Amino acid sequence: MRKSRPRPISASRRDGLPPLREVAAAHGLLAKKSLGQNFLFDLNLTGRIARAAAPLTNATIVEIGPGPGGLTRALLAEGARKVVAVERDGRCLTALAEIANHYPGRLDVIEGDALETDFAGLIGSESPTRVCANLPYHIATPLLVRWLQTEPWPPWFDRLVLMFQREVAERIVAGPAERAAYGRLAVLSNWRCETRILFDIPAAAFTPPPKVRSSLVELVPRPAPLACDTQLLSEVTQAAFGQRRKMLRQSLKSLAGSDAVGLLARADIDPTLRAEEIGIERFVALARALNEERADHLGRKPNLMPNDRRRKLIRLR
Ligand code: SAM
Repeated sequence: MRKSRPRPISASRRDGLPPLREVAAAHGLLAKKSLGQNFLFDLNLTGRIARAAAPLTNATIVEIGPGPGGLTRALLAEGARKVVAVERDGRCLTALAEIANHYPGRLDVIEGDALETDFAGLIGSESPTRVCANLPYHIATPLLVRWLQTEPWPPWFDRLVLMFQREVAERIVAGPAERAAYGRLAVLSNWRCETRILFDIPAAAFTPPPKVRSSLVELVPRPAPLACDTQLLSEVTQAAFGQRRKMLRQSLKSLAGSDAVGLLARADIDPTLRAEEIGIERFVALARALNEERADHLGRKPNLMPNDRRRKLIRLR
C-alpha cells in the first residue's frame, strides 16, 4: 500500500493567525507596483525562506518590506529571537501590529525607507544580526551595494539572505567564467562576501506574479577581505566594465589622472586583457596601484587601505 506523505503544517495553523490572503483583503492591501510589491501568501514557502536564515533562535533578523507579514510570521514561527522590520507602505502597519501583538516583544516595525535607514545604529550591539528579506526589486541592488560598502568591515550583519530577480542573482555570484554576468556587482559582492544561490522561486508563487523567476541568495561576510579602499575599487571597476569589450589599456584611460599602461604594470596585469577576464584579486591590485600612483603624483604616502593590518602595524611603530 502506498504511504501518504505527511502534509506540511502551514504557519497559519501553527501560529493561529489568519491566512495571509484574508489578512491582505481585510486591510485592503492591493499590491502597488511603484513599491515593488509582489507578495508571498504561501506560508510554507516563507517558512522555507526563513529556515534558509537559520539558526534563528538567538538571532535578530532585519527584514526589509514585511508587507502583510508572510515572511515576518515565518521568521517568528521558526523561532527568531527578534525581527526588526522596515516598511515604507503605511497601509501595512495595522496588519503588522496584529503580528506584533501575537509575538509580544519580538517584532519591531519601523515605518520608513530602507535606503535611508541607519541599520548599524538601529541594531546597536545586538548580535548575531542577519538580514532576511523578499526585497522590493526596484531598490534591491542599491540596498545590497550599501550593505557591501559598510565600514568598518566585518559589518553589523553575519549573513544576508535575500530574494532577487534570477538575473540579478546571477550577476551577484558570477566569476570571470560567467562572462556576461560578471561585472561590478560580482566584484564587490565576492570581494567582501562568499556568495551562493540557495534556490529559485517561480513567478507564480507571488501575488501578483512578476515577469521573471526569482532566486534566494546568501552572502556571508568574509572576516578579512583583501585590503582595499571601497571607493577606489568602485572607480577601477566602473572604468573597466564601463567599456568591457575594450582592452584594459584602453578602458582604464578614463580613470582620472592615471597612466593606464603604467597602472596595469604596477598591478602586474597584462594590458591586453579585458575586464571580464580578470579576477577579484587583480581588481584589488588595480585599486591599490591607483592609490599608489595618485600618492606618487601628489608626493605623499599612499592612503592606508581598510583591513590592511600590515600597514597599520608599520604606521603604529
Ligand atoms: N515581505 C513581503 C512578502 O514577502 O510578501 C513583501 C515583499 S514585497 C516584494 C516588497 C515590500 O517592500 C513591500 O511590502 C513594499 O511596500 C516594501 N518596500 C518598497 N520600497 C521600500 C523601501 N524603500 N523601504 C522599505 N520597504 C519598502
